[in-house]
Amino acid sequence: MALGKNFRLPTDCKPVRYGAHLAPDLEAGTFEGRMELEVRLEAPRREIHLHAVGLTVGRARARVQDRSFKAASSTDAESETVTLRFDEELPAGSAILDLAWSGKFSPGLRGLYRAGPLAVTQFEAADARRVFPCFDEPAFKARWNVVLVGLPEGVAALSNGQPIRDQKEPGGGRTVQFSETPPLSSYLIAVVIGELAASPEAKARSYPVRTWAVPQKQALTGFGQEVATAVLPLLEDYFGQPYAYGKVDQVGVPDFEAGAMENAACITYREVALLLDPKTAPLNIQKRVAEVITHELSHQWFGNLVTMVWWDDLWLNEAFATWMAYKIVDQWRPRWRVWMDFEVGKGAALHLDALRSSHPIRAEIKNAEEAGESFDAITYEKGGAILRMIESYLGEEKFREGIRLYMRRHREANATADDLWGALAEASGQPIVDLANGWIRQTGYPLITLSQEGGRIRARQRRFFSDPHAAPEPTLWMVPLVLRIDGRERRFMMRSAEETIDPGGPFEWVLGNAGARGFYRAAYDPELLRRLIRALPELKPEERMALVSDQWALVRANAAKLDGFLDLLAALQGETDHTVLDEVVGRLSYLEHRVVADEDRPRYQSWVQKLFSRAAAELGWDPSPGEEDERRLRRAAVLRALALVGRDPAAISDAVARYRRQVAKHPQAVDPNLLDIVVAAAARQADENRFEEMKELARIEIDPAAKRRYLHALAMVEGAKLVPRSVELALDPFVPMQDFASYLATLLANRAAREEAWKMLRTRWDEVRKKGDSPMILRRLVEALGSLTERRHLVEVEKFLVEHELPPAKQAVAQTLERLRADVDLRERLQPELSSALRSRS
Ligand SMILES: [Zn+2]
Repeated sequence: MALGKNFRLPTDCKPVRYGAHLAPDLEAGTFEGRMELEVRLEAPRREIHLHAVGLTVGRARARVQDRSFKAASSTDAESETVTLRFDEELPAGSAILDLAWSGKFSPGLRGLYRAGPLAVTQFEAADARRVFPCFDEPAFKARWNVVLVGLPEGVAALSNGQPIRDQKEPGGGRTVQFSETPPLSSYLIAVVIGELAASPEAKARSYPVRTWAVPQKQALTGFGQEVATAVLPLLEDYFGQPYAYGKVDQVGVPDFEAGAMENAACITYREVALLLDPKTAPLNIQKRVAEVITHELSHQWFGNLVTMVWWDDLWLNEAFATWMAYKIVDQWRPRWRVWMDFEVGKGAALHLDALRSSHPIRAEIKNAEEAGESFDAITYEKGGAILRMIESYLGEEKFREGIRLYMRRHREANATADDLWGALAEASGQPIVDLANGWIRQTGYPLITLSQEGGRIRARQRRFFSDPHAAPEPTLWMVPLVLRIDGRERRFMMRSAEETIDPGGPFEWVLGNAGARGFYRAAYDPELLRRLIRALPELKPEERMALVSDQWALVRANAAKLDGFLDLLAALQGETDHTVLDEVVGRLSYLEHRVVADEDRPRYQSWVQKLFSRAAAELGWDPSPGEEDERRLRRAAVLRALALVGRDPAAISDAVARYRRQVAKHPQAVDPNLLDIVVAAAARQADENRFEEMKELARIEIDPAAKRRYLHALAMVEGAKLVPRSVELALDPFVPMQDFASYLATLLANRAAREEAWKMLRTRWDEVRKKGDSPMILRRLVEALGSLTERRHLVEVEKFLVEHELPPAKQAVAQTLERLRADVDLRERLQPELSSALRSRS
C-alpha cells in the first residue's frame, strides 16, 4: 500500500526515548546505526511507521517486557517511511523497538554530509530521517541518547548532550557517549565530528559556552563567544525560564546551506555568520553575526523548548527569533541601532508581499517538501514585523508577560499560534486574536492612503499590489494606525475600508506610519506629500527610510511619478543618517542596474555624482582616529554611490589605490567598512594579474567575510577576456556549494557577464542542478534568475522554467517570474520618463 507524499505518522504511537548508536566511516562516507527506541502505544498495533530515507534497515524487532516480537520492514519512497510489520500485535503500553541500519553520507548539504574536514548533520525541516529511522515530525518530542562509535583518535565530537564517556575500544576506534537530552523534536538533533578547535570555555551564568572552528580559524572564535555569553542571560531574563540544555556549543561549518541552525545546545553556522576578527571586520558583519547568534539562542526557548505542532506554524519559530534577535542585540549594544537594520529586512518583505504570488504567513503545509519552501522573507521578516507591531500595540511589558505565560504553559511541549495569541490576550486583557489572525492568515498588507478633506483627514485602506494591473481585492485588515500630526502621535484602530479622523485642529503635516512600526505602506494626496517632504528633517530616520521605500513602491505600482521620486531622493542629499542614505543608494543602484538605457548612462552617472560629490569631499576616504561608527558608515554609503553607482573616475581610482594597499598588507590601508566598495571597484577594472591575485586571496583568506568578498569579486569582472573564466569558475569546486547561488546572482547582475552566465546556465543545466542539489540552494538559484533585466531574458526564463520543472522550488519559480515580469515592465515604462527627467536635470 502506498502511503503518499502527504502521509503523516499516526499519533497513537509516540517516541519516548531514543538510544541511538551511530558509527560513521568518515573515509568511506557511510555509516551504520543501531538503536533502542522506547515508544508508547495508546492501542495495540501490528504496524509501526517511522520515517527513513536512503537507509537500509537490517534488524527490526520489538521487546515488550521480556517478550520479543519479530518484524518485517518495508520502505516507501514517496512518504519517506519504513513500516515495521510485526508477527503479532504489540499490546498497548510501552515497547522497545530494536533496529539496525546502514546508510550513506548525503551529496548535498543535508542529512549527514561532509563539509571540509568535518562530518556534520543538518536535519531541519525533515532530514533526520536520512540518518536515523525516527518519528520525524515536530510534534513527536522525545529524549535522545546519542552514542558515536568507531571514531578516529584526535577528532572532536559534538552533539546536543554533554560527553559523559569517551573511551578507546579494544578493537580500535573511540566511543563517545552524550548525556540524555530533554524532550526534543528530531529536527533539532545534531552531530558534528572532525578536526575542530575551540575557544577557551567561557560561562554565561552557570552554562559553559564554547565556539568551535576548523583549527586554522580558531583565532576568529572570540567574538562569537562574547556575543553568546552576553545575550544568553538577557534571553533567560526575558523568557523567565532557565536555559534548558546545560551548555552551548557553536560551530562554524565550512559548507552550510542556511545561515545557521538552532540544534539544541549544538548550534551550527555558516562560517561567515559566526567567525570574525573584530579588529578587521566591517561593522555590518559584526552586527549580522551578533544578530544570527542571538536568533539561534532565542530558538533555544522559542522553537526548542516550546515547539510548533506542525510546519504551518514554522513562522512562529522564525518570526519570533527574528524579532527577538533585534530586541536583545539592541539591549546589548544600543549604539548599533539595529532596529534600523530590521527595517531593511522589513522592506524586503513588503516588496515580496506585494506580489500576487505571495502567501500568508501561516499557510497550509501538506508535507516536508512544502515545509522547506516556507523559509522566506514572509515567514521571517514579515512575521517579525507583525510581532513588533503587536508588541507596540500591547506595550512591551504586557507583551513580555504574555510570552512568559506561553513559555510556562507549553515548556517541553508543542503549541500553535492560537496558544500564543491566547496567552497574549490573557496577559494584556486585549482581544488580539482577530487582529493577529487577520495579519497572519491573509496574504499581503494594506496601503493606507491619507487625504485632507476640509479640516479632517480621510484614511482609506486597500490591499497593495506592485502590479499596476492587479484587480482590486476586498481584503481588509484591523490596522493599528499610528499617525504623527505636526509632531504629535495619535493612535487609531482602523477596522473598515475608509475612516475619517479628526486631527484635533488645523495642522501642517501628517505622517501615516509614525515610528514605522506598522506593516503597511502609506500614501498621501499631492498637497499632503508636499508638506511632508518640507517636514523631512522633523521625521525620525526610520520614518524617512519608510517614506523613500513607500514612494518607490508607489512608482513601481504606477501610482506615483518617477520625477517626484527623484526629487525626493535629491531632497535627501544632505541626509546624515547612514541607513536612510543606504536606502537612497539602493534605489539609485536599482535604477542603474535595471532601468537606465545605455545612451542615458553617462547622464545618469553624472547626476548621481553631483548628488554625492559634496558629501564625499567632506567625508574623504580615511577616517580620523577615534571617529564614530555613524560617520564611517555614512562615508561607506556615499562612496558606494559615487564609485559603484555613479562610477566617478576619481572615486574609482581612489578605491583601486586602496585595494592595492590592502593587498600589500599596508597597515591601516582602508577602513573595514569600505572594503566591499574597494574590492568591487578593483574587480570591475581587473586585468588577468589582478584576477589571479583575487582568486589566490579567495583561496588563502582565513577570515570568512574576506574570503567571500574576494570570491564574489571574481564574478564582478568586466574585462572581455576575464568574463568567460569568471563564468566557468561557477561550476568549479573552487566556488563552494553554499556560495554557488550568490556567485551566480552576482554574475547575472554584472552587465558584462550576464549573457554568458545565462547561456552557461541553460546549456549546462545538468551540471548546475547537480551542484545545487539541495532544495534551499535550488530556490536561490531560481531567485538569482531575477537579476536578468530585459524582455528577451524574461521570455527565455519563462520558457526555460517550463521546460525544466522544479517542484521543490515551485513557490520561488512563481515569485521570480512575477517579479521579473514586473521589473521588465517597469524598465520599459520608466526608461523614457527617466530619460527626460535626466535631461531636465543636466
Ligand atoms: Zn531561525
